[in-house]
Amino acid sequence: MSAPKRYTVTSALPYANGPLHVGHIAGAYLPGDIYVRYLRQRGRDVVYVCGSDEHGAAITIQAKKEGTTPQAIIDKYHEINKQAFKDLGIDFDIYHRTSSELHRETASNYFKDLYDKGVFEERETEQYYDEDFSQFLADRYIVGTCPNCGNDNAYGDQCEKCGTTLSPDELISPRSMLSNKPPVKRLTKHWYLPLNQYEEWLRSWIIKGEGRTEEWKVNVAGQCRSWIEQGLHPRSITRDLDWGVPVPLPGAEGKVLYVWLDAPIGYISATKQWAVDNGKQWEPYWKDAETKLVHFIGKDNIVFHCIIFPVILKANDYILPTNVPANEFMNLEGRKLSTSRNWAVWVHEYLRDFPGQEDVLRYYLCSNMPETKDSEFTWADFQAKNNNELVATLGNFVNRVMVLTNKYYNGIVPQGPQDVLKQEDADFLAQIDRAYKNISESIEKYEFRAAQNSLMELARQGDKYLGTLEPWKLIKTDPVRTAEVLYNSLQVIGHLSQLAQPFLPNTAAKLRRMLHLNANVAWNEQATLLPTGYQLNQPELLFSKIEDETIQIQVDKLHASQPMTTPTEETQKSVILSNVILSGVEGGVEGGAEGSAYEPMKAEIVFDDFAKIDLRAGTILAAEKVAKADKLLKFTVDLGFEQRTIVSGVAMHFKPEQCIGQRVSIVANLAPRKLKGIESQGMILLAEDSTGKLYFTEPTVGTPNGAVIR
Ligand SMILES: [Zn+2]
Repeated sequence: MSAPKRYTVTSALPYANGPLHVGHIAGAYLPGDIYVRYLRQRGRDVVYVCGSDEHGAAITIQAKKEGTTPQAIIDKYHEINKQAFKDLGIDFDIYHRTSSELHRETASNYFKDLYDKGVFEERETEQYYDEDFSQFLADRYIVGTCPNCGNDNAYGDQCEKCGTTLSPDELISPRSMLSNKPPVKRLTKHWYLPLNQYEEWLRSWIIKGEGRTEEWKVNVAGQCRSWIEQGLHPRSITRDLDWGVPVPLPGAEGKVLYVWLDAPIGYISATKQWAVDNGKQWEPYWKDAETKLVHFIGKDNIVFHCIIFPVILKANDYILPTNVPANEFMNLEGRKLSTSRNWAVWVHEYLRDFPGQEDVLRYYLCSNMPETKDSEFTWADFQAKNNNELVATLGNFVNRVMVLTNKYYNGIVPQGPQDVLKQEDADFLAQIDRAYKNISESIEKYEFRAAQNSLMELARQGDKYLGTLEPWKLIKTDPVRTAEVLYNSLQVIGHLSQLAQPFLPNTAAKLRRMLHLNANVAWNEQATLLPTGYQLNQPELLFSKIEDETIQIQVDKLHASQPMTTPTEETQKSVILSNVILSGVEGGVEGGAEGSAYEPMKAEIVFDDFAKIDLRAGTILAAEKVAKADKLLKFTVDLGFEQRTIVSGVAMHFKPEQCIGQRVSIVANLAPRKLKGIESQGMILLAEDSTGKLYFTEPTVGTPNGAVIR
């Protein structure tokens, strides 16, 4: 199949009201960047656009929270995020802003064109209004009592405690999340996109695949199918708000375009600005049928990019996305990444804490990308991937070859094999072709983990070849063969410098420098990059080992950011408020799931992992506070066959006298550790709900102390 004439590639516009974390990068930006770097390397015509999403109620509420203006908020986070992307090597052709004049004009005209074509329906409805804040309230900004379970903090669209879908009218005693007062009802007029009229077309395009040239990922197609099969309804695409692109119609004062219409049009305005800056035409990138349009997003944006935006594009005769390879979510150390709870690895902080190790993060996030299911970031795994793969395999192979070439041949490429290749050499060099084939096939299928693994496989083969032939021993007996082995190894390293470029751009650049090759990396499968007699440069260190202490600092920092106490009324409110802002309900194309009452599942384990844990039933016999430690209680626990001292950080949750007689489940074979000078001999299991409230996990009545739980 021949390549498309040109590509338009987008990554979700991040909301300019907070910094980026690793989940965002793994979801929508690293895959887009790898894809585009690869396309550029192959000489394809591609534009890669992104930018800050700077409209919507989330921005105005964040400004109120920080006691500043919306403009100050977006200026601040636009710069932070733009710099973080740049430092991590996410190489957009343009990182634009939806607050720019060009965007405002583009979005406004786009709306007007659709309005003139009669695409919209006009409706007047009653909506909740906060008189103190003089604004209408989106569903998520209204809280009240759930009619189903009595939860006092149910949202206007859903109760997260019992999972019931609600409308604001169903809430008992509704109140505004802004003023905390009961809202009033007011009439307001809005414009609706009649998605129901496009249902048949969406069914044939998405479900039957008519007019599509690529298969969509199972998770993407599945989510779309379920939306379509539930039936589509007209969707309001304007809002009552003073921050955004004004609705360009008479009688629409105080109304702006819904941020979910506004944001994806940001891809188009970014392309326009890029065209202006580079003397290009923007139209072919959005209107020519020979252009391939690809959206990289997180799974929370699927409906907008696969259903709503395509309807808007189709209605204005723009091209439709060829593919939307949405990723699932990345979790962190067993919990959902959360901006509001500060459970995150922030990109700008990583870059500060690990200078010069941008590629290590890229490598780890790609090797762990949530392509088909949720994945998990752990610091221990990050360290292991660096030390065991980047340092021990890729780094080690390159370093040994470079050092030996310097030592034996003054850094000049030695004489390669002259007659028929030995079988072991032929097998080794055949790995180069295999790597090009596997990497390009995987990238074209949006399988970036597999692609990067094929890159590492070539390095692994190199390390193995070197370890088997041992040129450092061979040099004493067979100088001719030594030269051949190092020559062959250098050819592989030359190709690694090309193949690493989409994944590890800094490493590729270092390799190019060491090898004395042009920094402009092509996709040259056949070339002999390093002929005999070619002078190399001095070797540089590619990767360095990350020590346990460095990792411990990060783990401690993560846990130190966590509140130990049950949230007070005040902090609960602010958590809810930030959840609303960050959950993307009102817009924002970021890829973090927040606001759910449930933590994500941890990665699957095998039975043997579980069988190592010795769980026992027990009873708390005594409990007391630990001196000079606000959070700790010291328990004496009866396990039937013995009594244990266990120290637990629950003093903010339980009074000592409450705990005496409490039945508990114990991890009995956890290595003892000292807390405030007391040796704790095990761990009491506790359940934690989404508000941080703790519960003992008690065995059923009659379970004897010491009984094994399995
Ligand atoms: Zn409920």
